[in-house]
Amino acid sequence: MINCPKCSSEALVETPALGNIPLDVCPGCSGIWFDKGELEALLKQSPAGGSADFNLINPKAGSLACPRCKNKMSRGGLVNPLLLVDKCEACGGVWLDANELGLAKKLLGVSGGSSEVKVERPAAAPVEPPARDPKIVLIKTAAGVGALLGLAGVSFEMYLYFSPAASVPRAPSAGIAVASALLFAGGILVLNWGKEDRWS
Ligand SMILES: [Zn+2]
Ligand SMILES: [Zn+2]
Repeated sequence: MINCPKCSSEALVETPALGNIPLDVCPGCSGIWFDKGELEALLKQSPAGGSADFNLINPKAGSLACPRCKNKMSRGGLVNPLLLVDKCEACGGVWLDANELGLAKKLLGVSGGSSEVKVERPAAAPVEPPARDPKIVLIKTAAGVGALLGLAGVSFEMYLYFSPAASVPRAPSAGIAVASALLFAGGILVLNWGKEDRWS
């Protein structure tokens, strides 16, 4: 990963926007980094570029550091004195500002293709939710049903207990009440089991 020489916080994004030449483009300023040979390969597609000399014309010390090797790049004309670019004499890479690619193509008579390349910042890798084990889902579902049945059982026994004996179908059973309470408590316990994983 290499950072934009202009916007230090932006990482260049590789994009195959111009045919088969992968470009490193800054999502912030849309500047383009060409590794050695890449720009030449692109410009050679034009009649004027085929015979062009890719050494800088009137190179001067520039202010940008090469994103690859951190050497100070030189600023000078590329192919045409009007097309000022930053070139790293150490690794041969060339930096074009967003508007310079269009200018390069115009000067060389390259037609077609985009004159500007835009990229989006890559999205942060999505956090995968932990895969749910179907067995655990089954156990939790059973626990939920158990808890509901337990609650219903306890409620029914309470209803039997507090209602006048004549109006209810049978006498309340302490055994069923206790079993239902245990079922409810156990179900809730199982439902909560494993929850602490979420915080780790
Ligand atoms: Zn940038
Ligand atoms: Zn370099």
